[in-house]
Amino acid sequence: MTERSEILREVSADGERWDVLVIGGGASGLGAAVESAARGYKTLLVERIDFAKGTSSRSTKLVHGGVRYLEQLNITLVLDALRERGHMLQNAPHLVHDLSFVVPAYSRPSLAYYGFGLKVYERLSGKHSFGRSKFLSRERTLQLLPAISREGLQGGVLYHDGQFDDARYAISLLRTFQDLGGTAINYVEATGLLQRNGKTVGISARDTEDGETFDVQAKAVINASGTHTENILSMDSAPHGAVLAVSQGTHFVLPGSFLEGKTALMIPKTADGRVLFAIPWHGSTIVGTTDEPVDHASDEPRALAQEKSFLLDHIDRYFGRRPAAGEIQSVWSGQRPLVRSGSGKTSQLSRDHRVLVSESGLVTITGGKWTTYRRMGQDTVDRAAEVASLDKRPSRTVDLKLHGWMDTHPEGVPEWELVYGSDLAQLQALSDEQPEWNELLHPMLPYKRREVVWAARYEMARTVEDVLARRTHALFLNARAAMEAAPVVAKLLAKELKRSDAWMTQDLAAFQALAAGYVYEDG
Ligand SMILES: Cc1cc2nc3c(=O)[nH]c(=O)nc-3n(C[C@H](O)[C@H](O)[C@H](O)COP(=O)(O)OP(=O)(O)OC[C@H]3O[C@@H](n4cnc5c(N)ncnc54)[C@H](O)[C@@H]3O)c2cc1C
Repeated sequence: MTERSEILREVSADGERWDVLVIGGGASGLGAAVESAARGYKTLLVERIDFAKGTSSRSTKLVHGGVRYLEQLNITLVLDALRERGHMLQNAPHLVHDLSFVVPAYSRPSLAYYGFGLKVYERLSGKHSFGRSKFLSRERTLQLLPAISREGLQGGVLYHDGQFDDARYAISLLRTFQDLGGTAINYVEATGLLQRNGKTVGISARDTEDGETFDVQAKAVINASGTHTENILSMDSAPHGAVLAVSQGTHFVLPGSFLEGKTALMIPKTADGRVLFAIPWHGSTIVGTTDEPVDHASDEPRALAQEKSFLLDHIDRYFGRRPAAGEIQSVWSGQRPLVRSGSGKTSQLSRDHRVLVSESGLVTITGGKWTTYRRMGQDTVDRAAEVASLDKRPSRTVDLKLHGWMDTHPEGVPEWELVYGSDLAQLQALSDEQPEWNELLHPMLPYKRREVVWAARYEMARTVEDVLARRTHALFLNARAAMEAAPVVAKLLAKELKRSDAWMTQDLAAFQALAAGYVYEDG
């Protein structure tokens, strides 16, 4: 793996000119970068914090067409997303799998309505179907979801959709991009746009680790900065209106006993007319999400009081009890960079994406969903190539297998190690180098010490947070356990990255302060 200092030297070299430069290392930016590199364009991606630090590690982790969008009659979005769901499973089977969902029905008409709607959903997926939907008796519904409220339950409908590992998928895109010859760097922020004769010709950048600044020249610049989209647009000399509506969603992680099995619960109509999920995840249960408009973007959004009470009320209604504060293992929130239109509720805003090209030639991608990232990348690079008059080259990503792809799942490998795909043997071999790297980081977490070493050596992890939040999901799975595991992680990381004791103390303190925000507190 190339050293960070070497990558920086290449990125900041005078006279270096990239075909395509992407700002932002979330789903949209990594998708565009892979698309561009796969077409053979010389591509650079800069991320100001860490890959998937923004919304892309905070999703509900569903690869789906979106049953809700079907109800809103946004058939094109559902069709596109179902097609992309199929491509994601085909190209990254180590990171995407089929999950069964049950919609419980508490009245006869609702049973018929959901049964019909989910049959249409299944039919729309055509050859990309993940499995047939079917009606369930009351008894079968309770077998699959033993912990749900029984009063008035008539039966249920079972359907299939995809579950994926969002942050690991982002890391796999990063590795795929590098395999294709692309250059990516985290902890480098775009601080301005270079413009000549009214045209965008690059960016000013700052290495946030040491404060060094430098310019980078590029024929096309893509703004894929998520909820920060308007910050980048405001660096452009060309005027722009408001393009973004930001809405926040929060999840709780509860013990696995809330679902007791491998089937997810889909609540089709919440008090505010949306859907809510309870999903099995690494032996625990994710419950979410909410949809609250917010007036400013935050890198570390915190759950609002109304989101917490909304989730508690719905858990109480569907599971017949409120979780005790100590049972809530982690609380996390993410913000959606939605395309603004009208002044209605954010939950009603379309999840379609939009590619904008400003007068200066800056290409901006916004909106969309994780599930449609590939298609978004394709549309964005089509426009970027046009703007920069690059050779016209066709997209190659529909069948592009992502880093780690393998056609069979090895027997007996736990879920959290499957995500390494074909790299797993190499990861496991680290334990031969140092037998103690085979030890768990914490008794309540599935991760081993070798995952930390791997993240530092091969996945560009730079901080304790990078390891515990995005190379593993420790912080999202169990915040208190992650805080207890952090000192071991800091020590391993400092050794791998040749950092000082002072750095280790400072980075550990920064992680502990951040992680405290994932521990549930009333109010
Ligand atoms: C609560 C919630 C649940 C969701 N669930 C699902 C789901 O289950 N399935 C699904 O398909 N979709 C889901 N989504 C939507 C999906 O997560 C988002 O559409 C997607 O992650 C957005 O990715 P992005 O790259 O546009 O933004 P981000 O992931 O936020 O990436 C933008 C990146 O740009 C970087 N950046 C910003 N400014 C600069 C700068 N100046 N220089 C360099 N870098 C910069 C940021 O640090 C950030 O990493 C969900 C969204 C939310 C909020």
